Amino acid sequence: MIIVMKPEATGEEIEHLADVIREAGLQAHISRGEERTVIGAIGDEQKLQQIPFTSFAGVDSAMPIVKPYKLAGRSFRPEGTRIKIRDFVIGGDDIIVAGGPCSVEKNDSLFETARAIKASGAKLLRGGAFKPRTSPYDFAGLGEEGLQMLADAREETGLAIVTEVMDTRDVELVNRYADAFQIGTRNAQNFNLLREVGKYDKPVFLKRGMSMTVKEWLMSAEYVMSQGNKDVILVERGIRTFETSTRNTLDLCAVCVAMQETHLPVFVDPSHAAGDFRFVQQLSLAAIAGGAQGLMIEVHPVPQKAWSDGAQTLKFTKFDRLMDALRPVAEAVGKHVPSGVPAAV
Ligand code: PEP
Ligand code: MN
Repeated sequence: MIIVMKPEATGEEIEHLADVIREAGLQAHISRGEERTVIGAIGDEQKLQQIPFTSFAGVDSAMPIVKPYKLAGRSFRPEGTRIKIRDFVIGGDDIIVAGGPCSVEKNDSLFETARAIKASGAKLLRGGAFKPRTSPYDFAGLGEEGLQMLADAREETGLAIVTEVMDTRDVELVNRYADAFQIGTRNAQNFNLLREVGKYDKPVFLKRGMSMTVKEWLMSAEYVMSQGNKDVILVERGIRTFETSTRNTLDLCAVCVAMQETHLPVFVDPSHAAGDFRFVQQLSLAAIAGGAQGLMIEVHPVPQKAWSDGAQTLKFTKFDRLMDALRPVAEAVGKHVPSGVPAAV
């Protein structure tokens, strides 16, 4: 912690601050400059966390040095985190794509989608069985029936499945079906839920809350990791801004910052960022060019008939074209988009 004193701070005020630091068990290094005095607190900064330094007389500002995210911070694992799910690795040289409908529906569309995205090179099937909806009157997901359908689609195609869990009471249930948990934007600071998924040995796709700073997002990852589960994938899915011409604003700056600050893999969800299928390919290319390690994209056989988020959902041909367009971009940044595997006939 570095404490910068005001130019008019008195010797008594400076000494008082140094005493406060020493009482907390740290050393106080006082450097007297021509205009200002700066006090460096040396030792376990954690012990100073509750002290409101700027409310002390003579203090101008106080800056922590140590990052509050110990486990999520880059220095915890400078080589970067790789997460193995079934037959692929997230955080390595392959660009991993999760595709699928917003909601798991009571029809064949999930299975058709699974086959199609696999043939285009996706590795994960996404789909919500528990849906956070703005209106309590909207379709809220099929629950366990939807989870079973996802598991059946995995059985048929070999794709891994990722699905949202919204409630601590459902974590055990979702764990029985899914290969990875998804924590949605609305629950990104539901600390009890974060702690709960942190107790499982299963990767967590952590969407960024729609009004979250990068630091808050990483602190949410820290909540999961603090319980033992170190396999967190950060997913930038657009944030709320003053701009209303897209559903959200894709924050590629946050992707850059997250990649610098943490060792965790970073994904981009261009579908929820744009809210419009026409922009999904462009944003996907930009994300991969910028270093994101994977994408989460909404896909449905007939987006106009999707039970939720149809406007931002790609049909199969568009998804396939997107995957092809990604290949040269991935190669340009030293990565690779896995080839598709056609469904067995
Ligand atoms: C979703 O993935 O369908 C979803 C609801 O995402 P988000 O939490 O990012 O809105
Ligand atoms: Mn959706």
